Order: sequence, then C-alpha cells, then structure tokens
Amino acid sequence: MIKKQDIRALTKEELRSFFVENGDKAFRGNQVYEWLWSKVAYTFDDMTNLSKTTRTMLDENFVINHIEVDQMQRSNDGTIKNAIKLHDSLIVESVLIPTETRTTACVSSQVGCSLDCNFCATARLKRMRNLNPDEIYDQVVAIDKQSRLYHHHKLSNIVFMGMGEPLLNYKNVLASIEKITSDEGLGMSPKRITLSTVGIPKMIKKLADDEVKFNLAVSLHSAIDDVRSKMMPINEKSNLAELLESLQYWYLKTKKIITFEYVVWKGINDTQKDVNALVDYCKQVPSKVNIIEYNAIDDGEFQQAAPEAIDMYVHTLESNRIVVNVRRSRGKDIDAACGQLANKTS
Ligand code: SAH
Repeated sequence: MIKKQDIRALTKEELRSFFVENGDKAFRGNQVYEWLWSKVAYTFDDMTNLSKTTRTMLDENFVINHIEVDQMQRSNDGTIKNAIKLHDSLIVESVLIPTETRTTACVSSQVGCSLDCNFCATARLKRMRNLNPDEIYDQVVAIDKQSRLYHHHKLSNIVFMGMGEPLLNYKNVLASIEKITSDEGLGMSPKRITLSTVGIPKMIKKLADDEVKFNLAVSLHSAIDDVRSKMMPINEKSNLAELLESLQYWYLKTKKIITFEYVVWKGINDTQKDVNALVDYCKQVPSKVNIIEYNAIDDGEFQQAAPEAIDMYVHTLESNRIVVNVRRSRGKDIDAACGQLANKTS
C-alpha cells in the first residue's frame, strides 16, 4: 500500500496542480485549501461543496493529520494546559493564558528540546522531532476555541514559548506564522505574535533578513558570560557579544524593540553587579526587560530570588530609563507555567 501524503504539507499551488493533473479544475485546489486552513476541516467528508467522487479521490491519496487535545487541565486562575497528541502519538503541550483584556496562546514548536537549559523542565525531555506547520497552527485553533468557550472572546495573542526552540525549527515555525496571519488562515496580526528564543545569532539575522513582522523575545537570564554559560550551554557556542551583534542587526532591519526575558535566582544573578551588566547590555540595543517569576521544577537547585533583589532590578533598570515589567506566573498549580512543560499529567 502506498503511504498517503499529509495534505496540509502541500502549498496552494501544489493542490491546484494536483487537481489539474487529475483532470479537474485548478480552482478545486482553492476550495480544498480553504477547507483545510480557514475552515479547519477534520475529514474530507466535511468538505461539503465537493462531489462525493472528489472526496473519495482525496481520501485515497491523502490524510489530514489533525492534532487531538488528549487532556485538558484548568487552573484556578483560568489558565488551561493542553496535552496535545500528534498523529504519531507523541505529546506536546500548549497553554491558554487569560487576562482581563486578552487571551494568549503559548504554543510548542518541537517535541522536547535539544538545548539543555538547566532550569527548564522541557530540557529534560529528549528532542524527538520538529512540529509541522499544521501541528503548530492546530494548537492555535484549539486554544482559540477554548478562549471563545471559556472566556467568551477570541484569542488575541500568540507566544512561541512552549516546548522547544522555535529557531531550530525555523522553516516550519515561519510557515505556521504565515498561515496564522494570512487571510486564508486565521488572519491574525503578526504584531500580536512573539517568538521567544534562547538566542541563536545566525538565525536571528536570518529572521531580520526575511523581514518578519512579529516580535522577538530573547531568554537572556544573565548579561555576564560565565553566569549565562552555566545555565544555558548555548552561550558557550555563541556568547553575549555575538548575540548582541545579531540583535543590533535585527533592530536595524526591523526597527522592532527586543524583549529580554529574565529570571532572577537566589545566589546566581541577584547582585548589583548582575543588574549593572544587564543595564549595560540593554543600553546597546533598543530593548525592554520582562522579569519572570521562577517556576520551581525540582529539588531546589534553583530558587526564586528575594523580593528585594527584584526591586533592585526594577529600580536600577528604571533609573536608567529601561522599561521593565515584572510578570507574575500563571497556571503554576497545573505545571503550566514557563519552563514547567514536561508532559507531566496527574
Ligand atoms: N526555547 C525558547 C522558548 C521556550 S522557553 C526560549 O528559550 O526562549 C520560554 C521561556 O520560559 C524562556 O524565557 C525560558 O527561559 C523560560 N523558562 C524556562 N524554564 C523556566 C522556569 N523553570 N521558570 C521560569 N521561566 C522559565
């Protein structure tokens, strides 16, 4: 038996050619494309404006690999964590984060992660594979549905801060964003999408060259090489100077301010010296800082810094006119917060 192809791996042009090659009109490809993306059909039989013969022909040649929300957990604060089952039974997680004014989807880009940041739960899972564009797209669709159902408004923002490193799945992540933002997909504004990366200079420059319109966040956590390398092995390959150079290039090309994500840990990066290094770093590229609360993942090797240390960060950054936000963590009670995604369900 021939293995059926995933129909959503085809471009619109390829779909149009498929119909022409099979003696039908190219326009049929547009109809199917619309069913697959903006109407999110689960089966060929859902495509009610196609003849039965066409639907059968599609079914003989292709599959629609939809994700499945395998398990859903709701936190006291309204956060929802989904365990998403992929067509090959692998699991990733995605999270809905509600606030008064918006709903944000936090989506995964890979199954597991290869980066070994030692404070992150996902790092403990081996990287199994990249997600396809449709698997990322479907996470957004699923969360949009939940947002409408439980919070009575549509999804407003997307962050690529779930499992995996989006810049190590560059092509598929960009293809998913293309679909999410296109009128033939979900028609969302790229201004409401943020890609978060550990900071891979070569790929950041590529993003800039590709003139992407979404926002960039970088998980910095320290502006001192020795300290950062201990937590994030990637820093040994490309240090802070190299990262900075790529971010300056990004700003030059896109004119978009960079967000630095930063966790302050007790005894690791909670001194005035650490803050000063961050201030110096921020001054070299238009940027702002999001201080995120540490979500404990294990035996206490890492601990959230004292409130005084956070205050010191906020005060020093602000007195240097650097915008800083302190983000409270959401969904902790269901292990849905940053860095806690590890396919743990209970
Ligand atoms: N690989 C990407 C996206 C996934 S991590 C990246 O590194 O940016 C999303 C964010 O959560 C990153 O800023 C990451 O540093 C942070 N994070 C990871 N583990 C965490 C934890 N235990 N507590 C708080 N934030 C964490």
